[in-house]
Amino acid sequence: MKIHKAAIIGLGPSGLAVNKLIYGNKDDEIIAFENIDIHKRDNYFGFWLTDWMKPYEGLIEKKWNKWEINNKNLKIVHTDNNYPYCVISFKIWKDFCLSTKNNLHLVSKKVKTYHPVKNYYKIITEDNIEHFAEKIYDSRSKKEKNNELIQHFLGINIKTTSNTFNDKQLTLMHFTEDNNLLHFIYLLPFSHNRALVESTVFSKEVLNDDWYRDKIKKYLKQKSINEFKEFSYEKGVIPMFFSAEKIQNDPNIFNIGLRGGACKPSTGYAFSFLIKQIQLLKKTNKNNVNVHHFIERKMDKVFINYLKNNNENGSSFIKIAKNLNGYEFQKFMMGQSSLLTKLKIIKSMPKIPFIKAVFG
Ligand SMILES: Cc1cc2nc3c(=O)[nH]c(=O)nc-3n(C[C@H](O)[C@H](O)[C@H](O)COP(=O)(O)OP(=O)(O)OC[C@H]3O[C@@H](n4cnc5c(N)ncnc54)[C@H](O)[C@@H]3O)c2cc1C
Repeated sequence: MKIHKAAIIGLGPSGLAVNKLIYGNKDDEIIAFENIDIHKRDNYFGFWLTDWMKPYEGLIEKKWNKWEINNKNLKIVHTDNNYPYCVISFKIWKDFCLSTKNNLHLVSKKVKTYHPVKNYYKIITEDNIEHFAEKIYDSRSKKEKNNELIQHFLGINIKTTSNTFNDKQLTLMHFTEDNNLLHFIYLLPFSHNRALVESTVFSKEVLNDDWYRDKIKKYLKQKSINEFKEFSYEKGVIPMFFSAEKIQNDPNIFNIGLRGGACKPSTGYAFSFLIKQIQLLKKTNKNNVNVHHFIERKMDKVFINYLKNNNENGSSFIKIAKNLNGYEFQKFMMGQSSLLTKLKIIKSMPKIPFIKAVFG
């Protein structure tokens, strides 16, 4: 019976980060379980460059110093030359995290259950095979919950024949002001003729693929982009509720990634936070760390309550963007804003709905 040093359940970005950042330089025997083919996963993760992400600058596919947030009437452009918006692809992150000194044994099966036995754990996979490890890093998470908001999206990677995009400036949110639906387009221009164009909705239910595709086509048509070639797509659901599982009493079980509370639910940003989470876990002997400050979590909760109770069409996001400069905006998005920035954000919100959301 082989007892591995650690078991990683799920090889999404957080499970991968455990393999690289915690065990990458040791020659330990690690076992990982994953029930999808991660080599087929292909999506981009965006974040603003923070100090804790600097070690991975070499993996970044593209950086933008300018981003815009707009609707048909108003366009806010932010610039920050020191803290650009960056993207890393899942494929690059995966290859980086799988290139390690340790001995990783990948089991392509779903984990059914695990429980402690003496000073180690027995992990049982769907084929009823038993595996053993001294520690468990668990990244399984619920992406949807009854009556809770989710961020759901579909994006296509396209190539156009002519020079179409301004690759110096990304569109973070172009609100389309659909009736009773918070919908926006996210556009990452990788070059003059290559971009990821994504249709995103904040609501309680996922829509069918054609819905997002129609919105993307309509947007591209408005930009006079009628001919393009789609070469890949990504889609997903990100919880807009606090998806963290209860902290484990057992010190050798670690909830990681979304399951460990890495997501900032009001925005769906999680990638850089889950990396911070694994970096912090490496430095402590506790089995949980707080990636988001108490006050940030509180503000997120109020903002989500506000979104749940009001038919927001994007104007509050635009107002927040208008009242902040690029530096303040990226600091807020990365959970590092000053008190003054927080006050500016609160001041940007419509008063009565906001007060109701505080107590809602
Ligand atoms: C398409 C997409 C784009 C995103 N873009 C951004 C972005 O731009 N910026 C950002 O900050 N965040 C983004 N996010 C949000 C967040 O970063 C991701 O959701 C991220 O994948 C979360 O990582 P994770 O490791 O916590 O969970 P996951 O990626 O969900 O990984 C968990 C893994 O566990 C596996 N698993 C589940 N159950 C079992 C089981 N029983 N046995 C074995 N394996 C199991 C799953 O197959 C999965 O691979 C995006 C999410 C998606 C889906």
